[in-house]
Amino acid sequence: MPAPYEITREQLAGLLAGEPPFRARQAWDGLHVRLQRPEEMTELPAALRRALGEALPPALREESRRTADRGQTTKWLWALADGARVETVLMHYPDRVTACVSTQAGCAMACQFCATGQGGFRRHLSEGEIVEQVVNAARAARPRRLSNVVFMGMGEPLANYDRVWAAVERICVELGLSARHLTLSTVGVVPGIRRLAAETLPVNLAVSLHAANDELRDQLVPINRRYPLAVLAEACAEYVAASGRRLSIEWALIGGVNDRDADAAELAAFARPLRAHVNLIALNPTPGYPVVGSRPGKVRAFRDELGALGVNATVRSTRGVEIDAACGQLAASPPTSPPVAMSGPAAPSSVRLPQDGPGH
Ligand code: SAH
Repeated sequence: MPAPYEITREQLAGLLAGEPPFRARQAWDGLHVRLQRPEEMTELPAALRRALGEALPPALREESRRTADRGQTTKWLWALADGARVETVLMHYPDRVTACVSTQAGCAMACQFCATGQGGFRRHLSEGEIVEQVVNAARAARPRRLSNVVFMGMGEPLANYDRVWAAVERICVELGLSARHLTLSTVGVVPGIRRLAAETLPVNLAVSLHAANDELRDQLVPINRRYPLAVLAEACAEYVAASGRRLSIEWALIGGVNDRDADAAELAAFARPLRAHVNLIALNPTPGYPVVGSRPGKVRAFRDELGALGVNATVRSTRGVEIDAACGQLAASPPTSPPVAMSGPAAPSSVRLPQDGPGH
């Protein structure tokens, strides 16, 4: 049985076979426009609501929720049906509300400095598991409207391309977010960048570069051994030419490792021909990587150095460090205080909906 945000219109209509056709439309819009759970769809007869709720149990079960930044940042730990765990972060800003969603349980890319990479790969997330993170974040954001989604949580989005793209389409077409407010982030999975270049929805692309010479990048971001910088640059150029969108480059500044003048020069040489925008962030602490982030003064100096070299760079504010919700810190480990125990019935493999139940 597909999850609520995996199901197609046809499958939903099939579930509601025997009901008047407008019921399927109501339920579809309830899920995608009003972001309702079936139990909340008061326009449906009560028995139908109940049956639909049993047929479409949520894909994500909340295991814990923590907030930081005076309530402006929330991080959820979700348990999936098979026990895998992922995290989602919601961030309120004055001008936008952003959800940072996971695309895989764990990650196979093994970047040393990233907590998700340190934990290894478990599995890809499904379309429904990705979209439901967005829906849950949007519900929690109310009364504000969720405006942006960044695929920068756990996992490598372009290593799970088909499901991620299906989620992107559902988020744009059905939930109604603008593709221009969606950002896919990649360590540099070149075939994925090439596929993205051929898509028509104008989503943004961010490349997590962190080093602009192959020797250092081979160490920091192991996928570089498969797709070295020259190949990556070519794919990025293809994306920029095809999409007309501005590329972002992510650079986590690591003290003494990639924050020297020579690093700025190499980064500028990579970014300038692409007219890319560089986002700088001081490396956030993770359990498995002993080196610390650059100091704030160094971060600003690096930004200024890039500016002098003709590259547009901004320093990213970090959110949620104290709840391990910041970039690179998502490990899906339970919080130190015990989570509230929850139990739920297993998803039924098929469901019967009442054809003429009471309670309309
Ligand atoms: N796998 C994709 C999506 C995850 S995005 C990607 O890497 O782009 C997560 C972002 O946080 C990436 O830019 C990643 O390089 C960055 N990051 C990882 N570990 C970090 C850390 N310890 N401090 C700051 N940023 C980090």
